[in-house]
Amino acid sequence: MGTIRLVTAIPGPRSQALAQRSARAVARGVAQLTPIFAARAHGATIEDVDGNTFLDLAGGIGCVNVGHRNPDVTAAIHSQVDRFLHTCFMVTPYEGYIALAEKLNDLAPGDFPKKTMLVNTGAEAIENAVKVARAYTGRPSVICFEDGFHGRTLLTLSLTSKTHPYKAGFAPFATDIYRIPYAYCYRCSYNLKYPSCNVHCAHHIEDTFKRVVAAESVAAIIAEPVLGEGGFVAPPLEWLGIVQDLCRHHGILLIADEVQTGFGRTGKFFACQHYGAVPDLVVTAKSLGGGLPIAAVTGRAEIMDKTGPGSLGGTFGGNPLACEASLAAIRAIEQGGLNDRALHLGERFRTRALAWRERFPLIGDVRGLGAMQALELIQPDGSRDPNPEATKSIARYCYEHGVILVTAGTYGNVIRMLMPLVISDEQMDEGLEVLEAALMNAAQARQTAPADVNIPAGAA
Ligand code: PMP
Repeated sequence: MGTIRLVTAIPGPRSQALAQRSARAVARGVAQLTPIFAARAHGATIEDVDGNTFLDLAGGIGCVNVGHRNPDVTAAIHSQVDRFLHTCFMVTPYEGYIALAEKLNDLAPGDFPKKTMLVNTGAEAIENAVKVARAYTGRPSVICFEDGFHGRTLLTLSLTSKTHPYKAGFAPFATDIYRIPYAYCYRCSYNLKYPSCNVHCAHHIEDTFKRVVAAESVAAIIAEPVLGEGGFVAPPLEWLGIVQDLCRHHGILLIADEVQTGFGRTGKFFACQHYGAVPDLVVTAKSLGGGLPIAAVTGRAEIMDKTGPGSLGGTFGGNPLACEASLAAIRAIEQGGLNDRALHLGERFRTRALAWRERFPLIGDVRGLGAMQALELIQPDGSRDPNPEATKSIARYCYEHGVILVTAGTYGNVIRMLMPLVISDEQMDEGLEVLEAALMNAAQARQTAPADVNIPAGAA
């Protein structure tokens, strides 16, 4: 017996009624990627309001690596609920915040004293990392990457690459931000091939310092070690190290945005660790909280301590419930061997996906790191034009057949895996069966008529 159990057409009547209420009450800009409304969730499954059970390969966009309602996480939350909900760490502090800061300082790469500050969301943490980097270096500029995503607030949107649906209409953006190509080998901006390119894209940053912005004006280079929203692009192993060396040489701080890559997704606590990189500041969020909203900036103590009391923080930052949930989630990753599990799940996906690529020419690239795996879809004749229509139709086929997954990519043509790492092999295989059927369906549909789908863009 499999896990997926569909008892109504999808979406069911209760979900449809909620969709109508949502359309009336909720701002249109807040996209809903599936028309399925959640009633409860457990492990790697979500039950909807109509009693249908779905396999969740999206994990609330990578926020429940330890599983929905991980028992350690819910126990920690329950115990904190009975003590206090909020005092504001800046007014009446509490131990959970300190314990989480200590833990993050221990876990983050780098054998030097570190300090941490806590906020609520990934975007907020990125904002703070940039503030700290500017204060420490006394420099204004930030270099970021094409296809990067760092959030939706105005500074982070300025750092984010994708125009539609994220940036269009929201100008003006923050100044002193410069964007350069990422190591996106499948669509290399320099039309080169790895390894004969000698990782030109990283070395070319020196040219940026001559032609675009002086190195001595640059406070930080901010990079996702693997692109998240940009399509799960894992750069060549040496890329981040070269970027880091350039940073060190010019007194620039390296900020690693590990919001999506962190906490087991790639098979390590931080994706940087695969590359031997030691960023000056690491930003975490999403699965850090085991399902509750919390985010962190962790970095070299002397950098984090540069700004004076009152300059960092926020009313709810490091909320006691979220701190306890986070400490429990980290324990669950450590004690549950979830980093190893991620490597195993990633391999299981990859083996199957590489076989699919032989069968389905619309799969252009299979890539990723650990359990952060993806398919980039191109035209059915194998030409490299992005295929967002097939991508949408596959996502739709999947949820209609009991699997929730999310897409990604600047061109909206990437299917990404963000399943909870507690998913069993059987559940993973069951989910991949549905994805395989969806790929087959898309490959056939394209030969006859264009897919008739209308899934809003803009997950993140
Ligand atoms: N950075 C990265 C790499 C992300 O993937 C995201 C969210 N998808 C963010 C920052 C922003 O996080 P949040 O939505 O919590 O603000």
